Amino acid sequence: MEFGIFGGQLVPPHILKAVKEVEEAYLKYKDDDVFNKELKTLYRDYANRPSLLYYAENLTNALGGAKIYLKREDLNHTGAHKINNVLGQALLAKRMGKKKLIAETGAGQHGLATATVAALLNMECEIHMGAVDIEKQALNVYKMKLLGATVISVEFGQRTLKEAVDSALEKWSLELDTCFYLIGSAVGPHPYPTMVRDFQKVIGEEIKAQILEKEQRLPDYVIACVGGGSNAIGAFYPFIENHEVSLIGVEAGGMGLETDKHAATITKGINGPIHGMYTKVLMTNEEISEVYSISAGLDYPGVGPEHSYLHDTKRATYVSITDDEAIKAYQYLSIKEGIIPAIESSHAVAYALKLAPNLDENKIIVVNLSGRGDKDVKQIAKYLGEQIID
Ligand SMILES: *Cc1c(COP(=O)(O)O)cnc(C)c1O
Repeated sequence: MEFGIFGGQLVPPHILKAVKEVEEAYLKYKDDDVFNKELKTLYRDYANRPSLLYYAENLTNALGGAKIYLKREDLNHTGAHKINNVLGQALLAKRMGKKKLIAETGAGQHGLATATVAALLNMECEIHMGAVDIEKQALNVYKMKLLGATVISVEFGQRTLKEAVDSALEKWSLELDTCFYLIGSAVGPHPYPTMVRDFQKVIGEEIKAQILEKEQRLPDYVIACVGGGSNAIGAFYPFIENHEVSLIGVEAGGMGLETDKHAATITKGINGPIHGMYTKVLMTNEEISEVYSISAGLDYPGVGPEHSYLHDTKRATYVSITDDEAIKAYQYLSIKEGIIPAIESSHAVAYALKLAPNLDENKIIVVNLSGRGDKDVKQIAKYLGEQIID
């Protein structure tokens, strides 16, 4: 296992063959200078990196405690951290001689990011999406098609994300010679959790350099929301050896941990297998639980295996924030700083709002603002019982 008892390659033999091919390619290219130079150039010229580290002075003054900095992943092309990962994996797929990217998507954010890089790198793109989700996310489906992707409607089972994963994996195993399966978070069988973390660690590396320049020291806290865990592990990883830096992952508390409507996998889950990895999973009677969050990016019943490891070894701490708290933070950051955060990122902001007033003024918090919140406006208005006319 890659992360203590967590990780692994728990997939059937026909898929293991494909996974092994990705592992081999990743080992070959991860320290390849030409590969890394090309990726860096794309990060800079296409994705708009380095993203800014912004001192949120209004927010800090209003709360009256620790200094709060925001890592602005929301300013990346396509509006979130996901682009860092899809650029890396798509470039690897190209090196492997693949012509087509396959991905699953739930709400559509990962599908959109994948379709974007497929267009950029002139590759075919096939997005598997549950029929139920297709109906709910018509705008994202339209955007994916605009970018040249084929969207496959998955018509079996519950017709949502889980079935979309099964459908994409089956298709991959049938078209191994030409296809690459592009996973959207730091989850799945090895090498995906490690590889996705390596493509996202640019976030933490930049935070480190930027805070040293601004404050001449490391932060006391790095806070990030956790769905599958890719933006969080990207922000945390470069600080793991810096024990003076507290790492805090924020899970979706949904309607509260005392209900069954949440997605707090690390807080409430048990060790078990899911999607090719051994990690913490929300399960009841050996069945994977239905999870819930107002945020489509956080409602996943598993979590990246490295987070399970960081939790059990006590290097990182995991907390949860409810829908209500996240929405308040969404509104608060908007009004205080003129920055509308993604509802996922609002979970991390909400925890910082609780923490900062209890800390001394000489403490420093960095919040990873994983994405922008334009996509969430309608849903928030609905939640608040307000109308948007369009
Ligand atoms: C997808 C998404 C997330 C959740 O994914 P992680 O892999 O946990 O980072 C968080 N924030 C935004 C803006 C997203 O789009």
